[in-house]
Amino acid sequence: MQSVKAGSKHLIREINEAIVLDAVRTHGFRSRSEIAADTGLSAPTVSGITADLIERDFLYEHSTGQSAGGRRPVMLALNASAGYVIGVKVTENAVIAVLTDLAATVIHRRHRKLQGTSLDQVVALIAKVTADLRSRVEGERVYGLGVGTAGVVDSANGIVHHGTYAHWRDAPFGDMLYQRTGLPTIIENDVNALAVNEHWFGIGKDIPNLLVVSLGRGIGLGLILDGRLYRGAFGGAGEFGHVKVHGDATPCACGAEGCLEALVADPAIERAVSAIAGRPTTTEEAADLARGGDDAMRRVFTDAAAHLGRAIANLVNTLNPQLIVLSGEGSHASDLMLDTLHESLRHHVFSGLSDGLEVVVEPWDDEAWAQGAASLVLAEMFQPALRPGTDVERPSLSASAVG
Ligand SMILES: [Zn+2]
Repeated sequence: MQSVKAGSKHLIREINEAIVLDAVRTHGFRSRSEIAADTGLSAPTVSGITADLIERDFLYEHSTGQSAGGRRPVMLALNASAGYVIGVKVTENAVIAVLTDLAATVIHRRHRKLQGTSLDQVVALIAKVTADLRSRVEGERVYGLGVGTAGVVDSANGIVHHGTYAHWRDAPFGDMLYQRTGLPTIIENDVNALAVNEHWFGIGKDIPNLLVVSLGRGIGLGLILDGRLYRGAFGGAGEFGHVKVHGDATPCACGAEGCLEALVADPAIERAVSAIAGRPTTTEEAADLARGGDDAMRRVFTDAAAHLGRAIANLVNTLNPQLIVLSGEGSHASDLMLDTLHESLRHHVFSGLSDGLEVVVEPWDDEAWAQGAASLVLAEMFQPALRPGTDVERPSLSASAVG
């Protein structure tokens, strides 16, 4: 459970403000009486809060709406440029950063090469890029920094327990970034950030149960269950790449055998297609050969799709999602995989759970991952009741740094 401090009037006020803002944000335009109906707050409370939010520039009176007779209600809208947030995606060799407005629209972007993947090097580069982006909106409010990185992340306490690329162990990444930037910082597993972004701003808007499966050098999974990001007990939920799908001894980078990732991720596909070609061959080259009619190459992708489909079917049978989003750089070969994947789902998903199940491909680029990290901050601002009970400073509507 969240800890809402008893008697904390300020926090309750802040939560109510966020609830009101979220009602407006979700619908685009909303009258005060609609907001009261949406939120269950009393009319005087809504009136007081909206007056304050207009005064502080978060809301503006947009137009007068439809009325069934009598006075037309005034519609309120979110002022997306009332402030900004910064989102960063850390890859094994680069930092991709974006500055977005309150509607997650990217305003400025930066792409910087990493000289190394030590904690100090990554923190220093993010601090530098953050300062650069903030200088572009000097005098404006910047509410926080969101950072997505691969690995097992304790988002509540800002700790990377196990970094996939950089081999970090129990790294106080969030606190180091906060010390360097002065911005409330949220760190999160990068696929979780994607899932939050899909749920808040993307194709999964208003879909409470959705899964984001990322395909690439690894296989990741972000779970939105009952409208919330599911992190698990220690932040490690979604290590989908290491579910066991095969009894054979295919070794995985994690040290185990028979993992999905060892059969389906890019390195596995590269190994298989290189063996067929008799020379080092990339996934992209192999995909082109397959599209050109090379059946042996095509079979590598359809075999991978069959493994992936069986594993996803197990997820569907366990979690009953409505939407599955396939993403990541590996999804660029989805045209070679989708038929087999769907066939596998038809075969393995328990009947009744496939009705209404939708699978879509969203080939995200690096910038979209950074936008996903920015949406972590926005989600926190608009739903502060979701904050885990910790002493870490979180982004909020009442606390911002001026850029
Ligand atoms: Zn593994």
